[in-house]
Amino acid sequence: SNTAPASTERSLVLIKPDAVRRGLLGEILSRFERKGLVIEALELRTMDAELADQHYAEHVDKAFYPPLKGFMTSGPLAAVVLSGDQAIEVIRAMIGATDGRKAAAGTIRGDLALSNRENLVHASDSPDSAKRELALWFPKL
Ligand code: ADP
Ligand code: MG
Repeated sequence: SNTAPASTERSLVLIKPDAVRRGLLGEILSRFERKGLVIEALELRTMDAELADQHYAEHVDKAFYPPLKGFMTSGPLAAVVLSGDQAIEVIRAMIGATDGRKAAAGTIRGDLALSNRENLVHASDSPDSAKRELALWFPKL
């Protein structure tokens, strides 16, 4: 039984430009809603170069970053704030491993993505990154 006290968290989720292009925005949002997560904010946005560099600060020097930046700025994405009990960890489990080819079936990437780059979703990976990313995307929240 669930005896752990509820610990409500907020996470920053980006439903990436490949998902919007492929018509998967509703499918992906629906999975989060059906899980019981609450949509606290939702906005279609197009990332510019500066926001990409800030959002992916930990990756800017990596070889995969230039094409990642090109991809993430290539069209509209949905920026979403989701909340719920242990939301950060729960959402990371729901999206699956980074590489869609290796992500487990049943996860969003495992079911719907076949790429290491165009993998449909970003989600905060810790309370510290959630705090940083929420301030970056939704400073007024
Ligand atoms: P995650 O999004 O699962 O937290 P990372 O933080 O490691 O993954 O990487 C950020 C994003 O950069 C990934 O979601 C993916 O779009 C892209 N990426 C990561 N590693 C690679 C790679 N080896 N080749 C191409 N793109 C990558
Ligand atoms: Mg990451």
